[in-house]
Amino acid sequence: MTFEYSQEFAQKQDEQDPLKGFRNKFFIPTLNGEETVYLTGNSLGLQPKNVEKYIKEELEDWKNLGVEGHFHATRPWMPYHEFFTESLAKLVGANPTEVVAMGSLTNNLHLLMVSFYRPAGKRNKILCEAKAFPSDQYALASQARCHGFNADDVVVEIGPREGEHIIRKEDVLAKIEELGDELALLMIGGVNYYTGQVHDMKTITAAAKKVGAFVGWDLAHAMGNVEVNLHDWDVDFAAWCTYKYLNSGPGATAGLFVHEKHHGDANMPRFEGWWGHEKESRFKMPDKFVPMNSAEAWQLSNAPVFAMAPQRASLDLFDETTFAQRREKAIKLSSYLEFVLDEIAKKNNANFEIITPRNWDERGSQLSVFLHGQGRELFDKLMAAGVIADWREPNVIRMAPVPLYNSFEDIYRFGQKLEEALK
Ligand SMILES: *Cc1c(COP(=O)(O)O)cnc(C)c1O
Repeated sequence: MTFEYSQEFAQKQDEQDPLKGFRNKFFIPTLNGEETVYLTGNSLGLQPKNVEKYIKEELEDWKNLGVEGHFHATRPWMPYHEFFTESLAKLVGANPTEVVAMGSLTNNLHLLMVSFYRPAGKRNKILCEAKAFPSDQYALASQARCHGFNADDVVVEIGPREGEHIIRKEDVLAKIEELGDELALLMIGGVNYYTGQVHDMKTITAAAKKVGAFVGWDLAHAMGNVEVNLHDWDVDFAAWCTYKYLNSGPGATAGLFVHEKHHGDANMPRFEGWWGHEKESRFKMPDKFVPMNSAEAWQLSNAPVFAMAPQRASLDLFDETTFAQRREKAIKLSSYLEFVLDEIAKKNNANFEIITPRNWDERGSQLSVFLHGQGRELFDKLMAAGVIADWREPNVIRMAPVPLYNSFEDIYRFGQKLEEALK
């Protein structure tokens, strides 16, 4: 596709966009009365306009029904989490019994590692990415310590080669081979939060399973962004948050996946609570735990309905579209952003190094740009001009034009504001 850096071109793309009707289903933040160029859907997705309706329904049902809302609410609260499974399963390529909306991302990672990090003898290593998101690093290190290890002895990191930004697949595969029967668990972010690199989850999963390890993926930046097929890839577990690409609001209820081959095992080490207990006998208050024969066995508590209602609203919008539609637009938008950045860099003699892979198998919506010779000052000017992006030390701007609410004109306007800021 050939691009042009002009308003006319951008508007024409927007007119031809099959998803153009969706932008209007979101609230776009404004600055001084003008719509911002919002490029941080990878950090906090925007509010779908239908969210208020969903929360109000629950408030009304609570007001009018009290405890009876557990059975008679519009969406009864007792099985409330079940209203999410079909939509979530579609997004991660799972069977509905393999996913559950619950908890928060870091909480869920801990719960899953209780089940899937089971060091035995020399098989005690965890392989993760270097400079993983800090919460993941803390979670892994503290899990290691809970098993009596010094974290540095068992947590093995794989990073980019000297002078590179991207972790090479061949290096991950070589590290898996090298660790072999010492590898207990591989846990990596499916999409790297800093560079936007998408890992080849299928191949890496197969390699780690081959040496006998459990495999879990942190899908924080993958969920609602790139293609994921957890069931077919034979992934053991995964977890995600929903306030990024899933637009479910700050601190929204997260979710997890457990492959069906691990379901129904009462002997599996697991932190248990009553909502993980078999549904039929839950209210007979039995004293022995019988796990649900699904990912719901990892649930501890009854559903936080108000924290989940926005997610149900957002999933409606995802359900109205297909992955192929979203992906096609994501590629076009992000390629257009790449084009505009390259044009402006040329025109202004600037050095913007896109550290996200340029190849489409290895990226989603996000572009991470290293601003050589420019710094925080340029970023602050952009923010003041109404570009909402994300700054990471030492010198990186992360931007993620997302298919449901970003437009080609957003990218054009970003270009204009960038040129202004460079002056
Ligand atoms: C966003 C993000 C988190 C955030 O964790 P919470 O438990 O939701 O606060 C954790 N890990 C990764 C990789 C992330 O991108």
